[in-house]
Amino acid sequence: MFVYMDHTATTPTSPEVLKAMMPYFSENFGNPSSVYSFSRKSRAAIEKARAQVAAALNADPAEIFFTGSGTEADNWALKGTLEKAMKAGKNHLITTAIEHHAILHTAEYLKKYHGVEVTYLPVDSEGFVSVEDVKNAITDKTALVSVMFANNEVGTIEPVAEIGALCREKKIPFHTDAVQAAAHLDIDVKAMNIDMLSMSAHKMYGPKGVGALYLRKGLRPENFVHGGAQEKGRRAATENIAGIVGFGEAMEILKSRLEEDKKINSQRRDRLIAGLLEKIPHAKLNGATGDKRLPNNVNFSFIGVEGETLLLDLDAKGISASTGSACSSESLDPSHVLLALGLKHEMAHGSLRFTLGRLTTDEQIDYVLDVLPEIVARRREMSPLWEEYLKTVKN
Ligand SMILES: *Cc1c(COP(=O)(O)O)cnc(C)c1O
Repeated sequence: MFVYMDHTATTPTSPEVLKAMMPYFSENFGNPSSVYSFSRKSRAAIEKARAQVAAALNADPAEIFFTGSGTEADNWALKGTLEKAMKAGKNHLITTAIEHHAILHTAEYLKKYHGVEVTYLPVDSEGFVSVEDVKNAITDKTALVSVMFANNEVGTIEPVAEIGALCREKKIPFHTDAVQAAAHLDIDVKAMNIDMLSMSAHKMYGPKGVGALYLRKGLRPENFVHGGAQEKGRRAATENIAGIVGFGEAMEILKSRLEEDKKINSQRRDRLIAGLLEKIPHAKLNGATGDKRLPNNVNFSFIGVEGETLLLDLDAKGISASTGSACSSESLDPSHVLLALGLKHEMAHGSLRFTLGRLTTDEQIDYVLDVLPEIVARRREMSPLWEEYLKTVKN
C-alpha cells in the first residue's frame, strides 16, 4: 500500500488545476506586459486568478501580489517592512519561536546585516502564543509583528484575530504566515485585522513555485525583487502565468470544499490520535486538540525511539510521513518547534508527524494504526534509552 501522509510538506497538483494551467505553457504563451492583443489573454488569466485568491480571503484583488513562493512572500513582508521602517528609526521586529524557517532565518538576516532587534515570543506547552506577551513586547521602536496563523509541525492555530485587533489598535503592521492555515481554514483578512498575509499554492493542491502576499491597501513595504514594473511595480519578473492560473483555480476549489474537507480530515485525525494513544504506551501527542489544531495534523513523540528510524521503518511499509518540518529533515537537530513547546531533547528526537489530505482514506488510517505500534515496540526493545526511561517511571 502507498500511503502519503505528508500533505503539509506538499500536495499533488489536482487534475482540474493542471488542466486549467496547460494552455498557458504553450498556446497562450504571451508576455502579459506586451501591448498586442494576443498577450491580453495572459493578462486576463492573471487578473482572474488574482480575483479568485482575493475572494477566498475577503480581500480586494488589488491587494494580492503574486510571488515565487510562500518563502518569498515571508521574506518580502519582513525585509520590505523593516528596511523601510529603519529609515524612520524603527528597528524592532516581534515574531515567535515556532515560526517556519522562512521567517526565522529572515529575522536572523535582518539582525545580522541591518541591526534589527528581534523579539522571539515563547509559546506554551501546546504551542500557543499569548496575546498579552505580544502586547508587552511592543515598544515605540516596533515596526512589525509577525505571528504565524497555524504551525506547520504541530498544527496549533494561533489567536490571530486577537493579535490583529491589538496591532491595529497600536497602529503596528501585523503580518501572518498563513501558508498552512490558508489550506484548511476560513480566513477573513478584514475581520481579522490582518495587514499582510503569506500563502503558497503547492500546500493547497496547486503547483510548486508560486505564492502570494496579501498587502492591505495603503501599505507599501520596500520591494523585495527589483526590476521591471510587473505586479503594479511591486514585484518584478515576468509572471509565472501557468503557476498563477493554477494557484487561482486551486484556491477556488479549496474554498468550495473547505467545510467538507475540514470535517473529514478532523474525524480521521482524531481517530488516528485516539488509536495511537490507545495502542502505544507512553505516546505523547504534541500540540493542541480539537478546533485549535489544524484538521489534518497529527504529531506524536514516542520516548525511547528516534523519529528518523521510525520514518525509515514506515517507508519500508509504504508510508510517507515526516519528523516535522521537511526543511530541517537534513539536519539532525531536534525541531525548534518541539523544543519551544518545552519538550526535552530525547522526546523531540522521537517525534513523528502525519498530515492528512485528499489522498488519505479510512483504510490508510487503519493501516497506520496496524503497523506503527509494532514498529515502535520493536525499536523500543532494542533501545537503551527506552530501558533507562522505564526505570525512571517505575521508581
Ligand atoms: C511550506 C511553508 C512555507 C514555505 O512555502 P514555500 O512556497 O514552500 O516556499 C512557509 N511557511 C510555512 C508555515 C510553510 O508550511
